[in-house]
Amino acid sequence: MTFVPRILIVDDEKRIRSGCVKMLTEDGFSATSAETAEAGLAIIKKEHFDIILLDLMMSGMSGLDALVQLRMLHPDTVVIVITGYATLEYSIEAMKRGAFDFIPKPFSPEDLRRVVQKAVEYIRTLQDIATESSRMRVLINHLSDGVLAVDSQKKIVLANPAVLKLTGYEGSAVIGRQLSDVVTCPDLISSLDQALGMPLEEFREIRGELNGLAVDSGEGTVIGVRCVPFRDRLGRTLGAVLVLHDITALKKIDQLKSHFVSMVAHEIRSPMNTVLAQIHILMDGLAGNVSEKQKEILGRCAEKVTSLAEMTTQLLDLAKIESGLTTGEREKLNLSELLLQQLSFHQDQAAHKKISLSAGPIARNLLVMANPYHLREVVANLLSNAIKYTPDGGCVIVSAIERNSYACIRVSDTGFGISSEDLKLIFNRFYRVKNENTRFIIGTGLGLSIVKSIVEAHQGRVVVESKLGRGSVFSVDLPLLLLEPSPPSAPDLCEKGRL
Ligand code: ADP
Repeated sequence: MTFVPRILIVDDEKRIRSGCVKMLTEDGFSATSAETAEAGLAIIKKEHFDIILLDLMMSGMSGLDALVQLRMLHPDTVVIVITGYATLEYSIEAMKRGAFDFIPKPFSPEDLRRVVQKAVEYIRTLQDIATESSRMRVLINHLSDGVLAVDSQKKIVLANPAVLKLTGYEGSAVIGRQLSDVVTCPDLISSLDQALGMPLEEFREIRGELNGLAVDSGEGTVIGVRCVPFRDRLGRTLGAVLVLHDITALKKIDQLKSHFVSMVAHEIRSPMNTVLAQIHILMDGLAGNVSEKQKEILGRCAEKVTSLAEMTTQLLDLAKIESGLTTGEREKLNLSELLLQQLSFHQDQAAHKKISLSAGPIARNLLVMANPYHLREVVANLLSNAIKYTPDGGCVIVSAIERNSYACIRVSDTGFGISSEDLKLIFNRFYRVKNENTRFIIGTGLGLSIVKSIVEAHQGRVVVESKLGRGSVFSVDLPLLLLEPSPPSAPDLCEKGRL
C-alpha cells in the first residue's frame, strides 16, 4: 500500500488556504484546511494528519499556543509553521517548541513543495525505523533462544521472554534495572564482563556452557551461552548481548555417541592387547623358531596394533573429557606451576630427539578457574605435538604472560610447520596432516580436538600461526581469575527467580 501523507493547512488567509490545498492535492497529497487555530484543533481531535502547515499569526488563538496543544495531542505529527518576514523570531520559538521547519510568507509553489517534500522524507524515515524496530521486537520476542542485552553501565536494555523462561526469572519488569540486581549466576555475569571489557581492537564471541540456570530446570539441562559486545560507529563499546540456547538435546545425543564410542573402544582394547602380547610371544621365538623375514613382518604387525591400541586409549580419554567438560570440577589453579611441571615432564621425550625444550617468560601466579586434569591434557598435547613435529636438534619454547585479563600460553617450535590449507582442519577430530615429514609419526588426530574442546569449555580460545618449514606457534588464552570477592562459582547455584 502506498503511503499518501495527509496534510492540514491552518491559516486565516483564504488565498493561502485554497492555494496550498489546490497545489498539494494536484501533487497527490490528501489536503484539508482550517481558517482558525481553534477549528484546526477541532479537526485534529477527530482525525490524524501526518503534516500540519500552521500559520503563526492568526486572529483568535495564536499559532504558537496551538502548536503546544497540537504536539500534546499528536506528538508524531510533523508541523511546519508559516510565518511573515516580521515574525522570524516567532518561527525560531516555534522550532524550539517542536516545529519541524518553517516557511516564510510570501512563498512560491516550489518553496512549499520543497518544505513538504523534506517533511515527507522525514516521516518515511521515521516509519522505516519504527517498522524495523517493531519487526525486530516481534522477532526477538518470539525467538526460542534467550536474548539479554545490557548497556555499558550493565543496565538491562533488553530481555526477551525466552531468557526469562530459561533462567526461571519470575520477578517484575527487568528493563532499566542493574544486572547485578537481577542476575546472580557468576558465569553469566563473567561472560558479560568479558564482552564489555574486551579491548577495542578485538572483537570475538565469548562462548560457554552452563548446567541449568533455573533451579527448576530439568535434570541435566545444558544451556549454551554466547556473548558479544556491541559498538558504535567509532568502535566504542555501548553494551553487550548475550544469547542463551538450550542444548540439552544435542548434549544428550553427543553423550550417547561418546558412550557408544567409549564402549567400543573399551571392548576392543583388551583383545588388541592380547593380540599384541601374542605377537611378542611369536617374535621372541617362544612358539618355535622365527625367521628374520617373519620377525620383520611380525614387527610391522606389532607397530600397527600398538597405534590402534593408542587410538582406543585416546578415544576413551576424549569420551571421558567430553562427558566431564560441563560437569567437571573446577578449582583455582596456578597455570605457571602447571606449565613448569609439564616442561620437566616432557624433557625426556625432547632429549630423545635432541630437541631443546625450554621456558620463555612465564609470569608468576597466573590464576585461572579450571579443571587441573583437563588443563594438563591441553599443555601435554601441545608440548608433545611440538616435540613430535619438530625434527631432531630443533627447539621448543613455552611462555605464559598476562594480557587483558587473560593468561596467554604460547608453545612455539622450529618444526615442520603446517600449510594454510591444513591449518583450517587440524582441530577437526581424526584429522592428520599427511606428507613426507609426518609419514612415520604415529598419532590419532584427536589431540588438538581435545585441546580445543577443553579450552572453549573454559571460555578460552586456541589459535595457531604456522609457516611450512619454519615452525608453529600454538597460543591458548584463558580468562584469568578476577581477584575480587568472588560470588559462588558453580553455575547451578543461581537462585530461583533470578537470572
Ligand atoms: P596427532 O598428533 O595425533 O596426529 P593432533 O590432533 O594432535 O593429532 O594434531 C593434528 C595434526 O596437526 C597432526 O597430525 C600434525 O600434522 C599437525 N600438528 C599438530 N601440532 C603440530 C606442530 N606443533 N607442528 C606441526 N604440525 C602439527
